[in-house]
Amino acid sequence: MPSTLLSRRDLDFLLHDWLRVSELVERPRYAEHSRETFDDALDLAERVATEQFAPHNRAADLAEPTFDGQRVRLIPQVRAALDSFAETGLLTAGLDASVGGLQLPHAVAAACFTWFQAANVATSAYPMLTLGNANLLLAHGSAEQVDTYVRPMLDGRFFGTMCLSEPHAGSSLADITTRAEPQEDGSYRLFGTKMWISGGDHELAENIVHLVLARIPGGPPGVKGISLFVVPKVLVGADGSLGDRNDVVLAGLNHKMGFRGTTNTLLNFGDGGHTPGGRPGAVGHLVGEPHHGLAHMFHMMNEARIGVGAGATALGYTGYLKSLAYARERPQGRPVGAKDPAAAQVPIIDHPDVRRMLLAQKSYVEGALALVLYCARLLDEQGTAPVEADRERAHLLLDVLTPITKSWPSQWCLAANDLAIQVLGGAGYTRDHDVEQHYRDNRLNPIHEGTHGIQALDLLGRKMTMQGGAGLALLTATIGDTVERARQAGGEAAGLADRLADAAARVTQVTRRLWADGDPVLALANASAYLEAVGHVVIAWMWLEQVLALPPEGTGDAFHAGKRQAARYFFTVELPRTGPQFDLLESRDRTTLDMRPDWF
Ligand SMILES: Cc1cc2nc3c(=O)[nH]c(=O)nc-3n(C[C@H](O)[C@H](O)[C@H](O)COP(=O)(O)OP(=O)(O)OC[C@H]3O[C@@H](n4cnc5c(N)ncnc54)[C@H](O)[C@@H]3O)c2cc1C
Repeated sequence: MPSTLLSRRDLDFLLHDWLRVSELVERPRYAEHSRETFDDALDLAERVATEQFAPHNRAADLAEPTFDGQRVRLIPQVRAALDSFAETGLLTAGLDASVGGLQLPHAVAAACFTWFQAANVATSAYPMLTLGNANLLLAHGSAEQVDTYVRPMLDGRFFGTMCLSEPHAGSSLADITTRAEPQEDGSYRLFGTKMWISGGDHELAENIVHLVLARIPGGPPGVKGISLFVVPKVLVGADGSLGDRNDVVLAGLNHKMGFRGTTNTLLNFGDGGHTPGGRPGAVGHLVGEPHHGLAHMFHMMNEARIGVGAGATALGYTGYLKSLAYARERPQGRPVGAKDPAAAQVPIIDHPDVRRMLLAQKSYVEGALALVLYCARLLDEQGTAPVEADRERAHLLLDVLTPITKSWPSQWCLAANDLAIQVLGGAGYTRDHDVEQHYRDNRLNPIHEGTHGIQALDLLGRKMTMQGGAGLALLTATIGDTVERARQAGGEAAGLADRLADAAARVTQVTRRLWADGDPVLALANASAYLEAVGHVVIAWMWLEQVLALPPEGTGDAFHAGKRQAARYFFTVELPRTGPQFDLLESRDRTTLDMRPDWF
């Protein structure tokens, strides 16, 4: 039975036929690896995800975490799964051997982790946050912080969080008020409240390492006065032993629509619930430079944004495969034109409208997976390309693609989950099937790690204008390379290339027009339409890239034919949606801008 979590065939196609990850073993960092070690890691991920993560996905949703005022309780399968995950060594798959990592290419490590997200996105959030936290400290923390916090996190003994949001400051981090008061011994004491903190309390690990944004009194206002601190739940001695309970207190759990297996918390720092050293105040240590905290935190946020896109993709993918399996089995109705009412019913996949819903899902989830793995491959280029100019190019392209990789799957793989429910009909609306949970779980993704609207502002307001438009130029030039190769390939690919070239030209034209008079108010008023249109162009590009990796037209098997058909679908049904969006943007439409709050 093929898995209904993800398609290994698709992963192999993307990693090997398209991204050619096996060629990376020529580079010194990956010299110890081979196609076999990549395959082994993927096999292991699929097995542990299937056997340890998928079975409690529904149970963790039905029995959400509880807090009795003293302790947070989760169903025991969560901890058992996380212990199994720690044993695989996959947490450190992409990390340096110097910290115990496997030094797998990021593209392979990302593909491995997608199995866990597809199996159980809520349980896999704990290692995702922990790895992001560890990576930030490896990049910006001191050697002592690496020894004290990172090593136990990578061993699976401590878990990590990211504490940015406050009840009154979500999208606008400039307004956070948590303060960090310097102490004579060089440490700080933190006071404030953090809202929405995922994994903020539980008993799944010996300790929880919070990375907290706070203000040092006297610093500049706004984002330039934000610093970053590492604040453990339990203080850690110089020898690594656990000491006093820090003054970080769980005020309560949030009760969510989905993603229920991940505890989500309101945390009080320094309210005197505990008194380390005999007095209130959460003990923290500065990470990196004072007042550069948000820049440091972006290290984790960028990684988390791509992780959110990957999670959205994984949920879309598993919903697609489950609805596909259902459509093959469910008999209902007869073909249009069938005259005999006594004839056997056909499986619903025989109805073109059901195939439409499946094809739409396929084009979204396989397009999104291609983008996620392409970004992971860019990380490999950024770190190991032999020529510096290529490393810089990968860095810039990744920067431009990050808001799209976060947002496009969050919107369209959620739409895929919606279609999966529709394919199952009434059954899809019940809790007897997984697809309704996938939809609820996926509904978080356009909200956290910067909402859809905030990603849109980032793409149009920053990424497309930075360095004099270098990001926009690089994106369109890279798409242009694909267009050129497709034209040279000829046949159907050349036709798709012409359509993609037209759409990419509109991205440049519309971006210039929006910024023609430098007025950000009007330019950014329709930023979400811009994000969505550019996102569709990027996914069309990902589909043309996949077409170019297929064997010649008329050869190959059903898998290859299905890929070609999904590419046709995306170019025929989806890419044309961008026309009206670009028209709206080009006209610098003022409808939403001119709508006044008192007219509602
Ligand atoms: C389940 C869950 C898990 C989370 N996990 C974490 C975590 O681990 N750590 C953490 O720090 N945070 C976490 N968050 C917080 C999350 O990042 C915020 O919810 C998100 O950034 C939005 O902030 P907000 O909820 O305050 O909404 P608001 O900022 O109030 O936004 C409400 C609406 O207004 C829009 N809006 C706001 N400002 C603007 C603007 N300037 N321009 C245009 N539109 C705007 C938004 O797009 C949104 O649609 C989590 C949230 C949830 C729900």
